[in-house]
Amino acid sequence: MVFQGFSRVRTAATAQMLLTLGAGCGSELPEYSGPLCEKAASGDWSPAGMRAELDHVDYAKWIDDPELEAQLLTYGMDDQWEHLSGNDVNEDGIVVSPYGKTLNAYQLIVTTPDLEGWGDYIRQHTYPVHGSCGQMKPGVVAHTYSGRSGHRTDVFELFYDRNVVSRAGFLIHEVGHAAGLPCHVGEQDRSWDEGGAYRLQLEFLAAVYYAEGLSEAHREAARTEFTRIMRNKFVEASELTLQDFE
Ligand SMILES: [Zn+2]
Repeated sequence: MVFQGFSRVRTAATAQMLLTLGAGCGSELPEYSGPLCEKAASGDWSPAGMRAELDHVDYAKWIDDPELEAQLLTYGMDDQWEHLSGNDVNEDGIVVSPYGKTLNAYQLIVTTPDLEGWGDYIRQHTYPVHGSCGQMKPGVVAHTYSGRSGHRTDVFELFYDRNVVSRAGFLIHEVGHAAGLPCHVGEQDRSWDEGGAYRLQLEFLAAVYYAEGLSEAHREAARTEFTRIMRNKFVEASELTLQDFE
């Protein structure tokens, strides 16, 4: 599970809620509802919230390439995304549908030459990735289930609202859970050395930061996300910086 919030200071009530949610590995396969489900009925998607320029059609090669689109769909998305697609691009040329923004994240991973190994990792370990129009609980971006009722990763509205680099990192994080990395302690990993989904996410973000051929905006998005997770998501703080991954 991953959370959007990174604030160090929280009220007791919030901390308790996050602890409840932070188990990170659930065992049921529920369905959720939320405001996005009503938008899904109309196909009227909100414009991208963060770094919308990174979701411009110039970057979304799959839009004019059905073969690439079909290829990207083999990396984990389940076959139930129809209600989150349609009107994928707005009048400014920005990919705005949840389906399109999720494909953009896969495309970043799969078609950036320096990130090839991460695409292979996803292929090997992913559970079916389900686009939910609902909300699990406030603050939850994605959640991976594994249990008697099945295996699945749900992504929620907060996932679609992130920038494409962040979304890609969250996909990697959840695949890490599917691959069996340890559940979180509360909402954090215990330490860098012990490993976990946040460490995996950080290693990916560092790879994005140093990947050839991406824009300065991609690098900036990777740097911002890397810094926030490194500062906030380990019980035992790590001193590692992006420079250590060069
Ligand atoms: Zn997690």
